[in-house]
Amino acid sequence: MSDQFPLTGISSMAIHAGDQKFGESSHLPPIYATSTFTFDTADQGMKRFAGQEDGYIYTRWGNPTFSVAEETIAALEAFNIKDKDGSPLKLKAFLHASGQAAMVTMFMSNLTAGDTILSHFSLYGGTHELMHKVMGQNGIKTIIADLRNLDIVEDTIKKNPSIKLVHIETPANPTIQCVDIDAVSKIAKQHGLIVTVDNTFATPYLQQPFLYDVDFVFHSTTKFLNGHGTAIGGVLLGKDLDFMNGKAYKWYKLLGGNSNAFDAFMLIVGMKTLEVRMERHCTNAVTVADFLVNHKAIEKVNYNGLAEHPDHAIAMKQMKHPGAMMSFELKGGLEAGKKFIDRLQMCVRAVSLGTVDTLISHPASMSHFGVARAQRLEYGITDGLIRMSVGMENVADILNDLDQALGGYAMA
Ligand SMILES: *Cc1c(COP(=O)(O)O)cnc(C)c1O
Repeated sequence: MSDQFPLTGISSMAIHAGDQKFGESSHLPPIYATSTFTFDTADQGMKRFAGQEDGYIYTRWGNPTFSVAEETIAALEAFNIKDKDGSPLKLKAFLHASGQAAMVTMFMSNLTAGDTILSHFSLYGGTHELMHKVMGQNGIKTIIADLRNLDIVEDTIKKNPSIKLVHIETPANPTIQCVDIDAVSKIAKQHGLIVTVDNTFATPYLQQPFLYDVDFVFHSTTKFLNGHGTAIGGVLLGKDLDFMNGKAYKWYKLLGGNSNAFDAFMLIVGMKTLEVRMERHCTNAVTVADFLVNHKAIEKVNYNGLAEHPDHAIAMKQMKHPGAMMSFELKGGLEAGKKFIDRLQMCVRAVSLGTVDTLISHPASMSHFGVARAQRLEYGITDGLIRMSVGMENVADILNDLDQALGGYAMA
């Protein structure tokens, strides 16, 4: 979009941020299904490699369909945020084949053997495994602590001079715990540390970590950003443009975690409805949480929109709305939970989240199967915990399905 006509709303941004003149006057961005790009002359090829001329070279290095998605996500994360000098915040984004690929670029471009990551204990299962089972082998350690306790954060950083990066996932999977991004980022910055935030559960519509001086934001675009479950993807965003165009780009190109044009297109189309989707997900979630809290078969509900959730205040401070993710336990524990899941008629039994449909999963046997049981229990991921990503169906049908599945348990 031209700077002459600044967009004032986030939906306008999601729909138009990537607008440009496409070939053949195409309204939507073409799916550039090509591995390579041609040079008119040898000289032009040399100039592109030398960075003296803009232009695509090879899809592992970038692709015009990726660029539209990258510009859109960057515009959403930077929406209405000012730089230190008062001008609109500029971000650079790289679209990856998966969230995990983007995470590897993020960590590997920032850390070397001997460095340590400090993170919270309620984390996406894949992140936890990547830290402990992959990066650990290459000399990058991770310390897990309760980042909601600021004294512990300060103390851990002081005692461990090898800590170089603080990774925050909030709201966190699957306990929906929230970490105060502003407070933790302030402490980290006093110690000169890098701060990274996994914003997958919230999306830039609900939460903008760059407001709090963080360095990098990560998304699994597979989830709410795509919104329809059509493609795996991930994005890394950074505000240090020299670092992004230099070191991060080098790792992106050489690790080979690039996206593909078709998945990028699915993401571009999905993101256009982000705001209306999130609003529906969120209002449905509030109704579902109220229903579950009052249901006689339910023992406990973790939803940060409930006043009794320990992180309710933090969620309300940094999020526009508590979101659409929750987890709960049945009074009958694991056995009751399995029966409940088996009886669902409309809600979908599947991992992943953030799609138009309501998705229900069992972390202990699915997403967090790779985390040792003792550790899992310590993190609050009990055997009977059920995770739900509340979808966009008519809420009466979600409630009816949950009720019949829960009632079935009560009668058993
Ligand atoms: C799904 C997810 C990831 C990993 O992303 P993939 O796209 O599956 O590789 C990381 N963090 C969170 C919070 C996620 O939900």
